[in-house]
Amino acid sequence: MSQKWLAPMVIVAAFSGWLLAFALPDVGWLQATTLLMQTTFLAALKMIVAPLIFFSLLSGVMQLRAAGSLGRLGGLTLGYYTATSALAVVLGLIIVFFIHPWTDYPPLTSVPPTDAVLIDTKDAGFVGTLANLLSSMFTNPFGALAEMNILGILTTALLLGVAATLVLPENSSVPRLVDDITQIIYTIAGWVITTLPLGLFAIAFQLTGKVDINTLISLGHFAFVVICATLFHGLIVLPAIAWAVGGVRPGTLMPRIIKPMLTAFVTSSSAATLPVSMQTLHEELAVSKAKAAFILPLGATVNMDGTALFEAIAVIFLAYMFGIPLDAFSIVVIFLVTMLASAGAPGIPSGSMAGLQTVLLAVGIPLEAIGLVLLIERPLDTIRTAINVEGDIIGGLVVERWT
Ligand code: ASP
Repeated sequence: MSQKWLAPMVIVAAFSGWLLAFALPDVGWLQATTLLMQTTFLAALKMIVAPLIFFSLLSGVMQLRAAGSLGRLGGLTLGYYTATSALAVVLGLIIVFFIHPWTDYPPLTSVPPTDAVLIDTKDAGFVGTLANLLSSMFTNPFGALAEMNILGILTTALLLGVAATLVLPENSSVPRLVDDITQIIYTIAGWVITTLPLGLFAIAFQLTGKVDINTLISLGHFAFVVICATLFHGLIVLPAIAWAVGGVRPGTLMPRIIKPMLTAFVTSSSAATLPVSMQTLHEELAVSKAKAAFILPLGATVNMDGTALFEAIAVIFLAYMFGIPLDAFSIVVIFLVTMLASAGAPGIPSGSMAGLQTVLLAVGIPLEAIGLVLLIERPLDTIRTAINVEGDIIGGLVVERWT
């Protein structure tokens, strides 16, 4: 199925699942079939989390070698992208700290069992929590992959990547191989995401009747907060950076970058928008072709402000809905893992779903919780992808000025 069809199909599928559940609520075979579909879809999403995160991070770190060989330009680009991603996560966390209208409504009553609490913060105190965190990070890599210990997977991938950059000769074929494997895994992730309409049909069917009106209102509130926060970042924060650091006024900038932003909005894919972003950065913002060709692919891979912001808010929302307490330490973990998960997300529609699971697992939220967010995820992806692409282009502009 082409990406163009995904968004409308998803809406039709969710709506049909909902309608069918109202029309035929007690038909045994429908219940069984949709349960099977929902379980398979969520299991397939879960299946790709560990390899996706591991290989995308490993290949990302190995690509830094190329960035390193471009010296100042590589360093500045990465520094800028890391700083704006961090800003997006912090913004999301601050906004959700003050604005969380869903807490006026009760959380869900039936909480699915948590099978993967990685950070046990219960009564552990600061030192105990830190010890817990460190032992999750520095662990047997195979065990980490098998048990889906997300912090362990991230640490292993980072260490392997850094070591590889140090020891491999310049002409080594290993980075190519790792990149090829990553592309293969992205392809499988793409297949899983293509089944989103079926998964969502089943989830909508299964949730109807179990999700009361309060939960739907909470979901609406969540979507509203995500949209406002994303627009704030995209219409205020990023243009302000472009003005202050890049020297281009918002009134001049926005009309020039509207084309790639609209392309991203329609395709929900920063990767698919890359050719339009390159053309815009070169023709509209006078950045040389060579620099645009270096900065933007790096941005489309590691810089996803909208995604980072969305994941930070989503995890806080789901923690409330599923009654998982979060303490200050969990917030630090959310910050760090969200940064890495957004950097590791492929630039395809709903590409951040595997990454979102990573953040959920890291603070002990059951993976099943993602079903709730999936109901509203497609329309939100359009806006966050547009902001992801805007962030990449403004990054190009800023780095150009700095160099
Ligand atoms: N669709 C996003 C992108 O391509 C990734 C995501 O957040 O799902 O940038």
